[in-house]
Amino acid sequence: MIITIDGAAASGKSTVGALLAQSLGYLYFDTGVMYRAVTWAALDRRLEANNVEQVSQLAETLTIDVLPDGPNDGRQYTVLADGRDVTWAIRSPAVEKYVSLVSSYPRVRAALTAQQRRIASAGRVVMVGRDIGTVVLPDADLKVFLRASAEERARRRYRDSQAQGQNAGYQEILAAIQERDKQDIEKPISPLVPAEDAVIIDTDNLDIDTVVARLKELVTGAA
Ligand code: C5P
Repeated sequence: MIITIDGAAASGKSTVGALLAQSLGYLYFDTGVMYRAVTWAALDRRLEANNVEQVSQLAETLTIDVLPDGPNDGRQYTVLADGRDVTWAIRSPAVEKYVSLVSSYPRVRAALTAQQRRIASAGRVVMVGRDIGTVVLPDADLKVFLRASAEERARRRYRDSQAQGQNAGYQEILAAIQERDKQDIEKPISPLVPAEDAVIIDTDNLDIDTVVARLKELVTGAA
């Protein structure tokens, strides 16, 4: 089976996607890391993020690898950009600031979409992102779209950042989430919308285990 999970920033899709994949013995693939890796590489090379031509060329030539393991430092997987370990660097505020802009470029999307389809072609995959059910894998067997209010998502991120000893404030996190939502929803290509045949789950009042259990029921129903 091919399963897609789409949703806004911090909607919980990565956490539940990884748990679902683990329980099914499927590959888990988070497409957001690819857009982040291109953004990180553009900043690292001192390109202007609004230089469409240079950033597009970079996306077409950058080698992005996602490996299932790596150093034991709390990571779920390792992300390499042209062989460099960028697993943590792609989570920086600078990358968060520019990633929506970079991911709005048609050639960037085309380059990454082609790689994502290749990765999914082997099947038995849970692929997570914004446009996986709508654009990347429209023929997927099960499509899920996770919704949660911006306030609830900011609370979750705030708790995570406190647990990791970071000092970002709740209001700051909420403002960043609202800004990224706006950019993701208003994107002229591949905007953040549920596929017509997606199952929409509102996670505001659901904990992770409940969402994963619901997804497993859906998988059984779709099999
Ligand atoms: O999911 P994550 O927050 O890591 O995604 C980072 C950014 O990458 C999103 O805000 C969005 O702009 C972009 N993205 C995308 N299409 C995807 C996955 C992510 O445009 N399939």
